[in-house]
Amino acid sequence: MSAVDASLIERIIRDDVRAMGAYHVPDSHGLVKLDAMENPYRLPPELRAELAARLGEVALNRYPVPSSEALRAKLKAVMQVPAGMEVLLGNGSDEIISMLALAAARPGAKVMAPVPGFVMYAMSAQFAGLQFVGVPLRADFTLDREAMLAAMAEHQPAIVYLAYPNNPTGNLFDAVDMEAIVRAAQGPACRSLVVVDEAYQPFAQESWMPRLTEFGNLLVMRTVSKLGLAGIRLGYVAGDPQWLAQLDKVRPPYNVNVLTEATALFALEHVAVLDEQAAQLRAERTRVAQGMAACAGVTVFPSAANFLLARVPDAAQAFDRLLARKVLIKNVSKMHPLLANCLRVTVSTPEENAQFLEAFAASLQD
Ligand SMILES: *Cc1c(COP(=O)(O)O)cnc(C)c1O
Repeated sequence: MSAVDASLIERIIRDDVRAMGAYHVPDSHGLVKLDAMENPYRLPPELRAELAARLGEVALNRYPVPSSEALRAKLKAVMQVPAGMEVLLGNGSDEIISMLALAAARPGAKVMAPVPGFVMYAMSAQFAGLQFVGVPLRADFTLDREAMLAAMAEHQPAIVYLAYPNNPTGNLFDAVDMEAIVRAAQGPACRSLVVVDEAYQPFAQESWMPRLTEFGNLLVMRTVSKLGLAGIRLGYVAGDPQWLAQLDKVRPPYNVNVLTEATALFALEHVAVLDEQAAQLRAERTRVAQGMAACAGVTVFPSAANFLLARVPDAAQAFDRLLARKVLIKNVSKMHPLLANCLRVTVSTPEENAQFLEAFAASLQD
């Protein structure tokens, strides 16, 4: 075996890529896994058997049908995409974020989002050679409308992301503030595409989808990941066909595989099951929030997502002590100064939540 020449790697791989840390997914074997906003529920056994039979019929030897016609039609119907609007599919909404960055990557172009926010907006921007501009939220994680409008006028971003609700803070931004941003992005001070990221829509039950027809510079992005299908990797973006036709040009052909397409179609036929799971998680969210808030020194922030953000006296210590009790959550306290001593925990089954709450209370003792 010949050795790899480090100087060749240096010559080929970009400086900023070599300087990056790899996206770290912690080993969760044997742990109560509450770090990744997964739905803890699987499909019921009888549906799993039916799905297995369905997947057995899929022609694995064939490429997917172009643009996944049937799945797009089903999504439009089930997700109430307004008439005249289209959807484009991605291998997770992460891929859609990458496509948006690629398509907008003119020299000097920028991507803007409130921070702390979803890290992929900044990462995808960097990969595509765009500059990312983060605009700090207020200390209570509400949108700083004036700061956003000023930053938009100054930086003229190509794309503005608004996650609704936001990750990792969990809150829904004020709809009036958001509308002001969408309108400001129509000019003349700034002309931008605004993407409302509704990854957590099943838990928020609020949406900009019905308002797509009001704004020619708006797209609404969703995913089935947090709804209970994180493993199949399917995201979608809804909006005017003129926008989506442009994005479609940078979409890798066949980006949604036949097993994902068949599984998603099946799940959408049984969407009531997923909706019921989401309703249970919303009820549990209230219970977990109350349990956490009952602990001395803990502030729990309002959440419209399937996770809770809380500030504790010592986040690193609480995280380690939870891990020692076999509970894995996310310590987000180093992500942004506004998140000092903050932890993020996914809402799960009543059993796992009880396990978490017990370990959480114990982790705060001296
Ligand atoms: C999880 C998440 C996504 C990514 O979802 P995938 O479809 O799994 O790639 C997008 N946006 C936000 C805000 C998220 O939290």
